[in-house]
Amino acid sequence: MTQKNITKVVIVGGGTAGWMTAAALAKVLEGKVRIKLIESDEISSVGVGESTIPMIRRFNQVLGIDEDEFIRATQGTFKLGIEFRDWGKLGDNYMHGFGIFGQDLATLPFYQYWLRLHQAGQAPDLERYSINRMAARQNKFMRADRSHANSPLGDIVHAFHFDAGLYAAYLRRYSEARGVERIEGKVVDSVLRAADGHVEAVRMASGERVGGELFIDCSGFRALLIEQALHTGFDDWRHWLPCDRAWAVPSGAGPELLPYTRATARPAGWQWRIGLQHRTGNGHVYASAFMDDDAAARLLMDNLDGPALAEPKQLRFTAGKRKQVWNKNVVAVGLSSGFLEPLESTSIHLIQSTIARLIAFFPDRGFSAPDIAEFNRQSDFEVERIRDFIILHYHATTRADTPFWDYCRTMPVPDTLRAKIELYRARGRIVRIDNELFSEVGWLQVLHGQGIEAGGHHPLADLLDEGEVAEYLGDVAGVIGQCVARMPSQDAFIAEHCAAPRP
Ligand SMILES: Cc1cc2nc3c(=O)[nH]c(=O)nc-3n(C[C@H](O)[C@H](O)[C@H](O)COP(=O)(O)OP(=O)(O)OC[C@H]3O[C@@H](n4cnc5c(N)ncnc54)[C@H](O)[C@@H]3O)c2cc1C
Repeated sequence: MTQKNITKVVIVGGGTAGWMTAAALAKVLEGKVRIKLIESDEISSVGVGESTIPMIRRFNQVLGIDEDEFIRATQGTFKLGIEFRDWGKLGDNYMHGFGIFGQDLATLPFYQYWLRLHQAGQAPDLERYSINRMAARQNKFMRADRSHANSPLGDIVHAFHFDAGLYAAYLRRYSEARGVERIEGKVVDSVLRAADGHVEAVRMASGERVGGELFIDCSGFRALLIEQALHTGFDDWRHWLPCDRAWAVPSGAGPELLPYTRATARPAGWQWRIGLQHRTGNGHVYASAFMDDDAAARLLMDNLDGPALAEPKQLRFTAGKRKQVWNKNVVAVGLSSGFLEPLESTSIHLIQSTIARLIAFFPDRGFSAPDIAEFNRQSDFEVERIRDFIILHYHATTRADTPFWDYCRTMPVPDTLRAKIELYRARGRIVRIDNELFSEVGWLQVLHGQGIEAGGHHPLADLLDEGEVAEYLGDVAGVIGQCVARMPSQDAFIAEHCAAPRP
């Protein structure tokens, strides 16, 4: 370590963001940098955030976490995708499944051949070509089996549902075992360095002063450092994403574990259902401009699959992002950096990608301005593309049954999203820009699932005659069907590999 290297990192906050950051830095910095994490037992974490996307497996792998042990410790289950009910219109039901569709042929992605037959009125539903979606519909699960070359069984892509509190506790044990020092207590103030406005220390209610060189703000919606101390500013996206509140409540575990998250559209928002081993997580996300709090709570409580295990808890938020995720010597991770509602389960992923980016741009005490600018540019790009994807679910609808849906259907959308929709509508093209999070087939499933029709398909899909295309699609669907028939139910898979102790 040279004179210029960071020697002390202070993480403020111990929710999912705080402990994920602590665990990752403890692993990567190998005990050579002192890491302190401050959290207050008096200020609870949000306690939600139970549904993830597949990239989290990479995070666990970097930490060296055994997946079965992790599932047992967090009462976890497996997730193959998200089911959307009543979004494009009342009665609709489609899934956004992870992973690939079919097998690409020649130079074209599979879905271009499907579009061709679909436009000729001859293709079965898109779902038939995805092992994730077909397995999810039958409550089946197994991990990808790569020993079968070219089999769809090798294409299964999964994420997790888990108990957020147990996840943070798990990562806390992991981090403390690797030298992270936890400080219990409330932060009441920050001390800024006169010369450049960097945070020099935070002051605790006890009077203790905790100094550092790099500060990570994981204080949740309070944004203690990035906003309260540095006044970084916030881009408010409520005009595109009007939902600003949620009620959350656990209920008893259902009779069978669903290997997917369910998102059911409601008159002024939507309801989530996440099955864990010991209970089901439920929540109703809604727009307070269109529904009052009591009505929103009632709607949730009237639509549970099992008895409620607690009183519902309310959460308030504003869709948007911090103007700079990294400002001076403070990096905001988690809710302090901004918020996108959980429709596509992206917040924990954004924590993970911010941590990965922080490691890629890990600073020295000189805090290079170009590094910080590039970090912020990448962060903005990532979150704005995810924002567009979420807006698509609200905007591409024919629902006109409530003022909320009227608003969403007719609101102007960001230019970047409008361009994506126009491209698909014109000739069925989907372009993934740079390394934006969602894949082409992720966009396809939501564009199609929400009822947007492609006005054409790739001309090269016409090089095969229609009979050949039909045969090729039929073969793919047939093989997927046979593979799913061989898969165990999620219940059986968990019982064999990773059943958690009953609380
Ligand atoms: C309704 C809702 C549903 C969600 N569902 C999902 C989902 O399904 N999937 C997903 O990926 N994400 C989801 N999220 C987001 C996810 O919950 C968060 O991204 C994640 O929990 C990270 O939160 P956090 O750690 O940033 O903040 P918090 O959980 O709020 O933690 C803040 C921490 O800061 C500490 N703190 C605050 N002030 C002080 C102080 N003055 N002194 C000391 N300590 C302090 C607290 O003690 C706490 O430890 C959801 C969010 C909401 C609101």
